[in-house]
Formats: sequence, C-alpha cells, structure tokens
Amino acid sequence: MNWIASPYCAKCGYPFPADLDLGGVPLCPVCASGNCELDWIRSACVYDDASRSAMLPFKHGGRIKYARFMSRAMIWALRDMDVDADIVMPVPLARRRLFHRGYNQATLLARPIARALGIKIDYDSVRRLYRPDMGHKTARERAENIHGVFSVAKPELIRGRRILLVDDVMTTGATFSELRRVLMRAGASAVYGVTFCRVVRAI
Ligand SMILES: [Zn+2]
Repeated sequence: MNWIASPYCAKCGYPFPADLDLGGVPLCPVCASGNCELDWIRSACVYDDASRSAMLPFKHGGRIKYARFMSRAMIWALRDMDVDADIVMPVPLARRRLFHRGYNQATLLARPIARALGIKIDYDSVRRLYRPDMGHKTARERAENIHGVFSVAKPELIRGRRILLVDDVMTTGATFSELRRVLMRAGASAVYGVTFCRVVRAI
C-alpha cells in the first residue's frame, strides 16, 4: 500500500512529495483557494493497484473481513487529528444497492472507527436515492449525477452537530461535497471525512 504520510495538505490530506517544505500549515492549491470539499479529510492510502486489490473484493466480493485492517489504517490516518466530531456517519448507500450487496461497506468501516474514537454512529439520519452507476465519468458529470441524491430524514439529529463521514474511497470528492451541502443546510456545524484510499491527481 502507498500509505499517505507527512507532508500532506493540512485540510484535504493530499500527499506532497517527501522533500517539499511549505512551512507553517501546508495547503494544496485547491484548499488554499478555499475549495476543500469538507472541513478536513484524511485518507490512509493512495488509490492504486495495491489498494484496489483490497478494496474491490471488500466492496463487491463479500470480503467483509477486510474491514478490520482497512479501518485500522483509517484510525492510523487520523492519528494527528484532534477529532472533535459528535457523530460518525458512514456515507449512505441507496436501499436498492444495499439489498443487492447485502451490506454497506462504509458502515463496516465506520463501526470500528466510531468505537476507537468513542463517538456514536448514525446510520439513518440521511437517506440516499438510487442512481445508476457513475462509471468512469468526469468530475463535472459525477457532481451532476450525485446532485440531489441525499436527503436528511432526521434533521433534529444533525442540527448543531459535527459529523465525521466515513467512506472506502474518495474519487473526485463529489459525494462528500454533496453530502456536506445537505448536512450544512440541515444545520450541521462541521463536516469532516475519512476514507481508506483516495485518488491522487496532479494538481
Ligand atoms: Zn488540500
């Protein structure tokens, strides 16, 4: 695995070359311009052949036992964070997908993380509509595809709360952005994220 270690962006966790010294609080260009998807994001490793070889069987092949090592890596990724979240929330899966897959992979990762942090988990305050798979689309197409899929079913559990979102992978950040938009509109006070791996594009 290509684990993400310092130096990285203080907001989104984007890994920097080892010899790069930005001094102070290092920010990537996206976060420096105020466009981070969430208040902060951490990922354990880079999305590549190695992490994919764990993630795909976990997500689509029923290898749910992988949740143990993946969630441990995610807890490790949070080692430098003073996590002040009130709620741990797995990124919701549409009911139809849950029915076919039998489990939400994000929930399997979120449970041990919530336990390790001593924070309660929230499975059902937010619902997700079914939309056909996004496949390999552009960032703009992914953002359009995800727009409007989330709805807050229990706003009283969201209002004033700081929420740590958990997912297996961050691709373009479109899912996090959309979920944050919906949560903030429902009165959340902060939205953070942690994923097992993330796509690292040149920026
Ligand atoms: Zn950043």
